[in-house]
Amino acid sequence: MQLDARAPTGPIEQRWSEARFKSKLVNPANRRKYKVIVVGSGLAGGAAAATLGELGYNVSCFCYQDSPRRAHSIAAQGGINAAKNYQNDGDSVYRLFYDTVKGGDFRSRESNVYRLAELSVNIIDQCVAQGVPFAREYSGLLGNRSFGGAQVARTFYARGQTGQQLLLGAYQSLSKQIEARTVKMHPRTEMLDLIVIDGVARGIVTRDLVTGKIVAHTADVVVLCSGGYGNLFYLSTNAKGCNTTATWRSHRRGAFFANPCFTQIHPTCIPQSGDYQSKLTLMSESLRNDGRVWVPKNVADLDKDPKSIPESDRDYYLERLYPSFGNLVPRDIASRRAKDMCDQGKGVGPEVAGVRRGVYLDFGDAVKRLGRDTVAERYDNLFQMYERITGENPYEVPMRMYPAIHYTMGGLWVDYNLMSTITGLFVGGEANFSDHGANRLGASALMQGLADGYFVLPVTVANYLAGLKPGEALDSHPEVKRTVAEVEERIKMLLSIGGKRTPDSFHRELGALMWDYCGMARTADGLKFALGKIPELRDEFYKDLSIVGSGEELNQMLEKAGRVADFFELAELTCRDALDREESAGGHFREEHQTEEGEAKRNDEAFSYVAAWEFTGATNAPKLNKEPLDFEYVHPSQRSYK
Ligand SMILES: Cc1cc2nc3c(=O)[nH]c(=O)nc-3n(C[C@H](O)[C@H](O)[C@H](O)COP(=O)(O)OP(=O)(O)OC[C@H]3O[C@@H](n4cnc5c(N)ncnc54)[C@H](O)[C@@H]3O)c2cc1C
Repeated sequence: MQLDARAPTGPIEQRWSEARFKSKLVNPANRRKYKVIVVGSGLAGGAAAATLGELGYNVSCFCYQDSPRRAHSIAAQGGINAAKNYQNDGDSVYRLFYDTVKGGDFRSRESNVYRLAELSVNIIDQCVAQGVPFAREYSGLLGNRSFGGAQVARTFYARGQTGQQLLLGAYQSLSKQIEARTVKMHPRTEMLDLIVIDGVARGIVTRDLVTGKIVAHTADVVVLCSGGYGNLFYLSTNAKGCNTTATWRSHRRGAFFANPCFTQIHPTCIPQSGDYQSKLTLMSESLRNDGRVWVPKNVADLDKDPKSIPESDRDYYLERLYPSFGNLVPRDIASRRAKDMCDQGKGVGPEVAGVRRGVYLDFGDAVKRLGRDTVAERYDNLFQMYERITGENPYEVPMRMYPAIHYTMGGLWVDYNLMSTITGLFVGGEANFSDHGANRLGASALMQGLADGYFVLPVTVANYLAGLKPGEALDSHPEVKRTVAEVEERIKMLLSIGGKRTPDSFHRELGALMWDYCGMARTADGLKFALGKIPELRDEFYKDLSIVGSGEELNQMLEKAGRVADFFELAELTCRDALDREESAGGHFREEHQTEEGEAKRNDEAFSYVAAWEFTGATNAPKLNKEPLDFEYVHPSQRSYK
């Protein structure tokens, strides 16, 4: 299939305003006749549903949590980027655009990234108007800090709770629309399939998570903002509920899945402490503004009290290897270097599976330089969280950190309008693949979610709806009935297996396989091994799965089983994509493709494209479609942060 990105041409700074001008409009009096489904109430979905509701459309919004306020976006700590240049340190929309294309290792679409940078400034205005309590300087101006991959301070923040505060802003706007009855909220309701009629997305099938009732909801357009798939790896920094079911089921109905192997590892997470852990905790990247990363130079010092190790015996390896960016190199690079140090036997902390997986993140100098009060103002809630989990006080003892799976750049393929390969199915936020290429820069996910939700989708969805006759009655359409029947059948099948293993035990094993062979470093042999193992484990899942309880009640085991079943299929596609991409780019590091200094080595000649995978049947190999990437403005070069 020929992929049409519908990316505008012409001067890049005019593309979005021209696209908006050319977009068709819906008369305000007619908007309520159009039914819009939004799956997700995180920053992307919450913002989209609230804005479309405010515009007057008839919106239904779905989430599996008990309140839209509990979407995973609430976990975001460090901040949100915007090219306001309040610091007068040389920032601009163009620089944010440049940093994002380069940071993504030249695997993103320029038009989309420029629009993101352009909209970043509107997001801050919108959120300030909502009352989001961003940190301020003494002067009253909003404060900024730096994040990885940038030499300017453009990250707006609300202590270490930026996601929570932004989500409360979006939630307030959503609540106003719920009250005004332009949005009907469906909490604790999980989308289990997409309804496609004559190639067009026309609704979803959901399960009420409390009663188990399966229901079809039809609409004129479906917008998925269902988040990322980091929990494919079982241990990740994502909320435990995050999953791929909405995106994977849509993929099975015809939406292409793009770049699944572009997964991001975050360098500063609390290290794994044992085999029975179910979650890893992120410590915000903002900590690398003032914390210094090091390991002992001598193996004999690994067990010593870090404070007793003199400066001369410490290796501040990021400052040594990357003097320009130091501790603020992008995530992919900081993560790989931490792994290198641990693989060289210089890791600190307890051994897990025979390896010490930890490097120090030290605030000793920052406390001396800035004083404890200033450090507390910036990071205290993160320090408290760390102390609660590890029992160590970061003001006194260096933190220990190790990389963990954190974010997924891959997702459903979308064109410039954020429409997938299924007509009428739009995708926003982390669920789409759009803006971050092979590596997302810190504080850019919140920016993308809100740009999509508040500013892009309201224009592009309206443009789509303007060409349709609204409100066609579809509830008794045979395709609707067929999709409902298929969902019911799948649930029945999962419940009937009657084996001995829990969904969690399969998920844990699948996650370990993915981390070992498709995690921070990948090889052709390892990926082939994983591609052999995943179907074996999946077969066992369908023979030995145990779910207690029934489908007609609250049953979290059943919920998990459905999600793990979809993770199995996505795992296979992710390994296939990683095997196919014979280069290293951003978060995708193939050991066979590295420079002499151990940096990622791209192959622009052969792989300067988006890999958009097409589902061709449960027993058939997926088909690879390619969207070639052109770089008119930011010319691909070897990324250097030295
Ligand atoms: C610990 C942590 C810290 C982070 N910190 C930052 C940061 O400082 N800055 C930054 O830019 N980014 C950060 N990120 C990344 C960022 O938080 C996420 O990428 C972003 O919030 C995703 O928003 P979203 O709206 O796309 O999805 P989510 O917030 O994940 O929301 C998904 C929504 O979809 C719903 N949903 C999903 N599937 C279904 C289904 N089948 N049926 C019904 N509903 C469904 C959920 O209920 C939820 O409402 C962080 C991530 C983590 C894990």
